[in-house]
Amino acid sequence: MKTIKAVMSRMPMMMTCGEVEETLLDYVEGRLEPYARWKFDLHIKMCRECFDYLAAYKKASALGGEILGPSSAPAPDDLPDDLIDAIVAAREAETR
Ligand SMILES: [Zn+2]
Repeated sequence: MKTIKAVMSRMPMMMTCGEVEETLLDYVEGRLEPYARWKFDLHIKMCRECFDYLAAYKKASALGGEILGPSSAPAPDDLPDDLIDAIVAAREAETR
């Protein structure tokens, strides 16, 4: 992993982890322009930490949407079963 980071740091078009963190919300909400989105995708593909960060953010926002309203979109098909169980458990805890 050390070598990937070393390569990334030498690529001028590569975003830093800090930039990914800053633009995460715009990315998730589809507000990034295509080039910025491409750079974000590229970083996510190469950086495990930011990949996990994005995944955790998406989980959190999906969870929030579930709790906020019954009319929210259904959960994406690619959610792992244990995550769905966690969301269901959280909803039950919330309504109890
Ligand atoms: Zn990163």
